Amino acid sequence: MKEDILHNLTLINKRIKTACERSGRNLNNVKLLLATKTVSADRIKIALENGQTLIAENKVQELKEKYENLKDIPHENHFIGHLQTNKIKDILKYNVTCIQSLDRLELAEKLHQRLLAENKTMDIFIQVNTSNEESKFGVDPAEAIELTRKISDFSTLKIKGLMTIGLFSAETEKVRSCFKILKKLQQDIILENIPGVEMKELSMGMSGDLETAIEEGATIVRVGTAVFGARIYPDSYYWDEGKANKKA
Ligand SMILES: *Cc1c(COP(=O)(O)O)cnc(C)c1O
Repeated sequence: MKEDILHNLTLINKRIKTACERSGRNLNNVKLLLATKTVSADRIKIALENGQTLIAENKVQELKEKYENLKDIPHENHFIGHLQTNKIKDILKYNVTCIQSLDRLELAEKLHQRLLAENKTMDIFIQVNTSNEESKFGVDPAEAIELTRKISDFSTLKIKGLMTIGLFSAETEKVRSCFKILKKLQQDIILENIPGVEMKELSMGMSGDLETAIEEGATIVRVGTAVFGARIYPDSYYWDEGKANKKA
């Protein structure tokens, strides 16, 4: 199990390096984030003890379950799942430094209120639905600038960039068009010059499409399966939940 994870990490780092070389990107500008949903704390530990520093969960429940086991190993924890407003209080207990999945004003407002009360701030990415699929979360690209502007009013929320889940498709060019939408939005938002808004980060690309994402400007690729192996739950369990059960 340890050998598998280390071997997979070597392969992923090679893929990232090759993609950077091919697209003239600086390797230092592309971070590997490990998507650890369903992965046990013991297996995550192996990665953290072997050079990895950035992980992310999709569910507050899993964050909570693994927290004790991981808290003494230095690492950074992001959140990449659909966040229900009733979980905001919880998420702030587990040292999450960035919420990459902020996709609606109501959530931003409630998060801001809670952060104010606790005298904290939070890095955030705006999640954009670039694939135009009903099943995926994220703000519509046409509404992303306005949402960014509104969220920038909340002093506790530090906007650092954008996140998207690309289309699942074997057709690379269709996937690429999702990443291009995110890149274009980043540039458009930079041109808006919104006070307090930084747009350095583009979180896009996963196990199957990280090369395309790097070619299109990803600064963070989020990888799960290619490091930890296949998951027993379908991804729809993580991505459709709020819509299937009514939005929080
Ligand atoms: C699970 C997940 C990933 C990683 O997906 P893999 O295909 O396993 O690499 C990336 N981003 C999000 C938001 C995820 O939920």
